[in-house]
Amino acid sequence: MIMEERSSRIPAMPEGDYLNDSERASLVSTEDLSLLNRWNIPEGVPTPRLYERWPVIGRSHPKKKRTPSVDIRPIILPPVGIAAIDKRNGHDQQESTEIRWSASRLHDWLDCPRKGWLKHQLKAAEPESFDTDMDGKLRGILVHDVLALTMAEVMGFQLGDINDHQKCPNLASAGLSLPEIMSIALRHALQIAPWLAREDAVASHRRRRMLGLTLEELNEWEDGDGESPIILSGRLGAMLTREMGLTGSGVLSMEWELKSSKGDPSIINVEPSIEFPEDSWSFGLSGRIDRVEILPQKDGWQRTDGKAEVVPLDIDKEDNDPSLRHIIIREIKSITGPDKGDSGKRHRKALLQEVQLALYARAWELANPGDRVVAVGVSEVGEGTKHLLEVDTSVLSEFGEELTDESTEIVAPLHRRRGESHKNPSSVPFRAWLRYRLEVSGRVADAASSGQVNPTPSAKMCGYCPVKMPCGLDSAFKGGFA
Ligand code: SF4
Repeated sequence: MIMEERSSRIPAMPEGDYLNDSERASLVSTEDLSLLNRWNIPEGVPTPRLYERWPVIGRSHPKKKRTPSVDIRPIILPPVGIAAIDKRNGHDQQESTEIRWSASRLHDWLDCPRKGWLKHQLKAAEPESFDTDMDGKLRGILVHDVLALTMAEVMGFQLGDINDHQKCPNLASAGLSLPEIMSIALRHALQIAPWLAREDAVASHRRRRMLGLTLEELNEWEDGDGESPIILSGRLGAMLTREMGLTGSGVLSMEWELKSSKGDPSIINVEPSIEFPEDSWSFGLSGRIDRVEILPQKDGWQRTDGKAEVVPLDIDKEDNDPSLRHIIIREIKSITGPDKGDSGKRHRKALLQEVQLALYARAWELANPGDRVVAVGVSEVGEGTKHLLEVDTSVLSEFGEELTDESTEIVAPLHRRRGESHKNPSSVPFRAWLRYRLEVSGRVADAASSGQVNPTPSAKMCGYCPVKMPCGLDSAFKGGFA
């Protein structure tokens, strides 16, 4: 009842360039933020980076125009004055709880604090049913693991280790042909997923989609020495073929486990900014980065005028680059299709809705003094493979298909530092985005630790929520802003 009443107070057609303060106070759902909606800013309306107020929440405008939003989560609902409900939403908690974070745990709390609490603190998630996307999960594990194992074997390093000497910086420089590399990948695929060699119809379908092989072709290869060069198509074949073209960087590590520079568990310290010297956050983070790469410099892999010190979070456009090495962080995500118009969607989500890329970028910088992350992105592995990179253009100006299939500048019109003037802001937008995603993470972690577990139901989120049964609010949300 209360959620329904709160939802009904949301203005259906707000006015102004972006939502005003009282409209923002009515927000009850992450869906209202429309973080992923394509924007098309009306003429004369400044982008969020140049808008007087910041951060802003966008809205729809006539003629199919829309202003963009900047993430303001966590959405914390004020007390409603009913003791039992306020207590359940965490409004009277005295002691904070320590939570060890991972990116996926933070994503659950970002989606909905009640989901985070029910799933991770109360362990109330329903067991996964068979109608969930099993095929998608299997595909994801397979492409991810096969690529990592194949690259580590071919390039001569262990998963999680640093390929520091860079004798073999990428797959193409290993001196093996594509069919030879595909043969190694096929061996790993069959070890991870022996069912790929089964006869039934499901296996046959998956084998074709993943490897592009019939059972006869696979048996023939296995009946030989199981090592002969082979041509694969399907997802794995397309991924490896594209991989051979990524020659513009050196792979530093695959599956790098987050840790401090001394090898201790990773702590993300979000240092205060010039604008807010009192604000800082600190929280522990576990996880593994799919892939870390290094960019070549004029004479080797290091810049000559950098320092081996942790690169500051805040860098302005006129500042000298303080770094020794330039780093790329990529996450590999298996996607369906993609359908027409969906290419790049997963990358966009990772930048604007999730925090994993930003957290991993900063975790790497903190653990590796002198390293500056200058591009992050999602490698979308579907029917084909597309490597996308969001680029810090204050450092990287030229790049081609030897580094990425598409470079994006999605965050540049959206971000400046909190408190920075809107008149000609001096921050490097990529660094301002990085800082802001860390601040969002810090605020979510603080809210969770202090017991803020209010629901933020949304039509999209509740439908797939693994705790919707114990929650009971999945039908409360009636839609958001226009
Ligand atoms: S069903 Fe909806 S409101 Fe309830 S926990 Fe899940 S996402 Fe939150």
